[in-house]
Parts: sequence; structure tokens; C-alpha cells
Amino acid sequence: MHDATQLAWMEWVAAPLLLLTPDGGTVLALNMAARRLLAESVTQEPPTALERLIGPHAAGLLLRALEARELSATVLAPLGGQSHSVGFDLSAIDEPSGHWLVTIRGDVAGNEDGSAIPALYDDLQAVLEWMPVGIEIYDKAGNCTFTNTHGQRLFGWGKDELVELDDWWIHAYPDPDYRRLAQNAWDEALERSRREGVAVPMNDWKVTSKDGTEKFIHFRLRCIGDRPVLVYWDVSDERQVQAELRYRAETDELTGLPNRRRFFSDAPAILRQAETRGEPVSVLMIDIDHFKVVNDIHGHAVGDAVLRAFADKCRTILGESVLARLGGEEFAALLPGVDRPEAARHAEELRRSIESQPFDVLTQHIELTASIGVATTHAPFDIDAMLVRADQALYAAKQAGRDRVVLDSGATLVPGQRFRSFSRH
Ligand code: GH3
Ligand code: MG
Ligand code: MG
Repeated sequence: MHDATQLAWMEWVAAPLLLLTPDGGTVLALNMAARRLLAESVTQEPPTALERLIGPHAAGLLLRALEARELSATVLAPLGGQSHSVGFDLSAIDEPSGHWLVTIRGDVAGNEDGSAIPALYDDLQAVLEWMPVGIEIYDKAGNCTFTNTHGQRLFGWGKDELVELDDWWIHAYPDPDYRRLAQNAWDEALERSRREGVAVPMNDWKVTSKDGTEKFIHFRLRCIGDRPVLVYWDVSDERQVQAELRYRAETDELTGLPNRRRFFSDAPAILRQAETRGEPVSVLMIDIDHFKVVNDIHGHAVGDAVLRAFADKCRTILGESVLARLGGEEFAALLPGVDRPEAARHAEELRRSIESQPFDVLTQHIELTASIGVATTHAPFDIDAMLVRADQALYAAKQAGRDRVVLDSGATLVPGQRFRSFSRH
């Protein structure tokens, strides 16, 4: 047994020290620093039970380390009655009697390696359960070792259902082609995260839930150590709102036609496709003649109704083309795969229809004409240059007296002239 004088040296040490019996169960002495640290637990003078002093959890961890004779082992645990976590350094002293000297290291809860604090594990798991996102943790071999409740609810599968990852893929991605895409993205993300240790966003995937509903899910993957951790959440609502906003931002409110922004955002893909197919592309610029007069005579409301009816007519006659209201009473149509004579035919058909069929809107009978400029090009395409050429042709049509089609070749279709005679140009 150690007497008080033998143990006086403990007080000279600034770090908190505990002297334990060989079985570790009893604290024989503790120094002032340890008393201060464990203030609330030191209710009686040693010898006292270790468990009583540092709490059952920390005592259990410490005893396990002692049993394993991990002489320099460090265990991390919250002390009984204390909210902070500490490390223990163990050293066997007094061989062969086998007493233990334990140095308590300060609060280590804030360690970067916070994941190693076992006593916090339960708390962390509760936090993961509480998160409003799905969380899955996988082991090195790719088996899912943890899924939080939100994750399960998102897809509707119970804890014991679809335990096999392959089954999950088949149910969540019923379309084999789409599934392959998703699996490739997953593999790539996994490899990148392993290599770079970063969180990898995996975009949004359409995932089928247990009840067959489809949800857009945003996934993020990160390897923490060698464990892949997946975090995901439902973005279906956001995507719907985005689609609506986008639709509104790209649609002309008055006519329901695509607006200028949409015309320019759709054009590149259409031109690329035409280039791949080796086809020409034509552009029509359509402008109502003396439209200002319609407003002046009949009022703005009638003017608006005429614009709507005019848009409908263009849509009916030009069919599948990308037709947009570029602004005011000016419209543009992009016609992929349409050469100059065919474009001229479409333009002339439209012009004639406008001229010959007055618009009946809001009890008014309104006669209109329109001028149309046509530009036709082959690859490489430049949408701005095409519009400039069509605009120049339109300007020429206006200059020449309106109510006519002018081509970027300089040819003009004058009113009443039939396309057949024009095609000789
Ligand atoms: P031009 O033959 O040279 O094209 O003559 P215009 O009168 O058609 O052309 P101008 O550019 O001088 O006038 C266009 C008119 O279109 C002026 C404007 O009041 C009218 N306008 C533009 N946007 C709208 C709209 O949304 N609603 C109505 N009602 N009128 C519009
Ligand atoms: Mg006009
Ligand atoms: Mg105009």
C-alpha cells in the first residue's frame, strides 16, 4: 500500500493523475488536478471505486484497456457527471505489484478526429436520425451499415426490405438503360471520392419509390475514411417550381409562344442537329405591317387580341417549326431541314393567308398584312448572322412596299405573284 508521503510527488504533476489498484477497479489516490477536473464526483476520500469517480462508461473503457495491457493506450470517453470527453494515458508502475498510473488528458471532444469518441456515437446516431435528409453509410465492401429513418421514408422501404443492393437498383430504377446510367454515375462518383476525398454531387436522379411514385432525388457521396457515405434529399418540388419559372421566363405571356430568350436557347441544339444531318436551316422574320394603326384606331386591347390571333395563324401554318415572338409585333420561325424554295413557299403561304383572311377579334373585323424576310444557310450555322440576314430581307420587304416576302438571295415575291414564277430566280 502506498502511504501519503510516497504519493506526495503526484501533487507536483500538473496533469490530472489517478493511481489505480492492479485490477483497475479502485482509485487509491488522485492529485489536485484530478480533483479539480472531477470536482463533482469526488465525494469521499480514496480509496474509492473507479466507476464512481469517472462514471460507468469511462470506467468500462478504461478497464478494458487495462485488461488488454495497452500500456500507452488512449481511450476517449465523457467522464461521469461531466459533459466533456477526455483521453486517458495508462502506465503500469510499481512492477511487479502492478498498480496503474492514469494520466487524464484535457477535454478532447473538439478533436478533429471527433468520430473516434465512442460515447458520442449514440448521440451522433440520434442526430443522423433527426436530419431532414436521407443518410446511408456503407462499409468497405459496399454493404449498407446504416440508413436513417428519413432515407427509408423517402423511398418507402422498411428496414428489412430490399437489403440486397442489387434488388434496390432494380426497383428504384426499373428502366435498365436509365439504371445503367445511374450506376455508372455512382461508380464514377465513388472512385472520385475515394481518390480525392471530396464530397461529390451526383446530380438529380429519378428514383421510383415502393409505391411506384417517381421522385427526383439529389445525391451526394463522400468517402469518409474508406466508408462511402451517401446523403440525399427529394428535389421534386424544387424541380417543378424551377420548370414553371423557366417556362414563365421563356414564354411570351400574351401569345403563349416561346419568347426571344427561348428562341436563342433552343436554337443551338436545333442547328447542331441540322449540321449533323447535313441539312440547311431557314429563318423567317415576320413583322405585321402598320400595326401601330390597329392600336391607334381600335385600342390596345384589340391590338393584343390581334397579336394572339396572328400568333395562332403563324403556328397553324408553320407547324413544327420553332416559332417565337421576338418582341412587339415581330415574330421569328426557325425551320430546320428547310431549303430556300421551301422556306419561301411557307412564307408566301403565311403572307397570303394573313392578307386574305381578316382577323375577327372583340367584334372588330381587322384586315392586316405582314412582311416577311427569309434567310437560308448551311453549316456552319450562326444564329445571330442568320437573323441579321433575315432582318435585312424584312427591311427590304418593308422598303419595297410591305405585304411581301423577300429572301436573303435578294429575290422578292411581290403580292399576287405565285411561287412558281418566283422559283425561277
Ligand atoms: P411597320 O409596317 O413599319 O412595321 O409599322 P408598325 O406600325 O407595325 O411598326 P412600329 O414598329 O412603328 O410599331 C409597332 C407597334 O406595335 C407599336 C406598338 O404600339 C405596337 N405593339 C408592340 N407590342 C404590342 C403589344 O404587346 N400589344 C399591342 N396592342 N401593341 C403592341
Ligand atoms: Mg410592324
Ligand atoms: Mg416591328
